[in-house]
Amino acid sequence: MQRVADALSRQNAFAASATVMVRQQELWEEFRDLHLDVDFSPGSLKLSMIKVANGLMEEIANHQDDDLIQERRELMVQGKASDFKVGPDNILRCNERICVPNVAEIRKKILDEAHKSKLSIHPGMTKMYQDLKQNFWWPGMKKQVAEYVASCLNCQKAKIEHQRPAGKLQSLDVPEWKWTSISMDFITGLPKTQKKNDSIWVIVDRLTKAAHFLGVKTTYKMPKYTEIYIAEIVRLHGVPSSIVSDRDPKFTSHFWKELHKALGTKLSLSSAYHPQTDGQTERTNQSLEDLLRACVLDDRESWDSVLPLVEFTYNNSFHTSIGMAPYEALYGRKCQTPLISDCLGSS
Ligand SMILES: [Zn+2]
Repeated sequence: MQRVADALSRQNAFAASATVMVRQQELWEEFRDLHLDVDFSPGSLKLSMIKVANGLMEEIANHQDDDLIQERRELMVQGKASDFKVGPDNILRCNERICVPNVAEIRKKILDEAHKSKLSIHPGMTKMYQDLKQNFWWPGMKKQVAEYVASCLNCQKAKIEHQRPAGKLQSLDVPEWKWTSISMDFITGLPKTQKKNDSIWVIVDRLTKAAHFLGVKTTYKMPKYTEIYIAEIVRLHGVPSSIVSDRDPKFTSHFWKELHKALGTKLSLSSAYHPQTDGQTERTNQSLEDLLRACVLDDRESWDSVLPLVEFTYNNSFHTSIGMAPYEALYGRKCQTPLISDCLGSS
């Protein structure tokens, strides 16, 4: 147990090792073909860390003769660029951020990955820049990010397709702990998927801004909503003590009662939801709705199948109101992705 605790407390995440008792040779060969590290010990087979080589890093390493990089390296040698360092991987870094060579292809790859890959969510300019600047640097990067976002057709379309007047934000109490107070919203009128979903149920923890995006049908009855809520939210975060919603107050109140019925409790049925009758709650902000709509445009027939990735990426990217990613607030640090990984840090 102590070893587990030690590992958990360590900053670097290691893939958990698994011990499997199987026909060794066969499995060993399979894993060897997959380029996974395998350790033998008598009677068992230990699968140890899986190391993923990062292709982007290789490309960057191969372009260290680029003018931009060379220039900074020379300044560094002359002692005129104290922010710059060369790591053991021979890659130049500026304050721990990787200096991206002046190669259009590489920069485009990074921008694409940060904006419209399966692991990105059409973030707005601030979100995208704040996320990228943790790992990458090049002169004029901020401007290039702004231009990139401005030129994304889906981002423009999502904004035009759905402009709802921004409500005034009503300040509510700051919740005391994670997932004790949630907000709920629906993004409706989406193209029907093969699974017949046409809306996204957005459930946000008001403290950390961590969110769940659930594909639903507008025809669902209340027991279905509570069933989903228990399976997806209670399972992970418990039962909230307050709910804020922009929806018809009747929906929230009905949902609250139905949830308690489903949980089999008669406790705390009374007060704790906040029907904001004037429709000016601290509701799902416009930018979240825009980015979800832009993601739907990427995948009109099966947007619900990419929702889990959209949700992950949203939670793992910068959120202006808390100055960090929701997962940083929830877990203490961001989760790893191909763009945010230990191998990108200054080893
Ligand atoms: Zn976009």
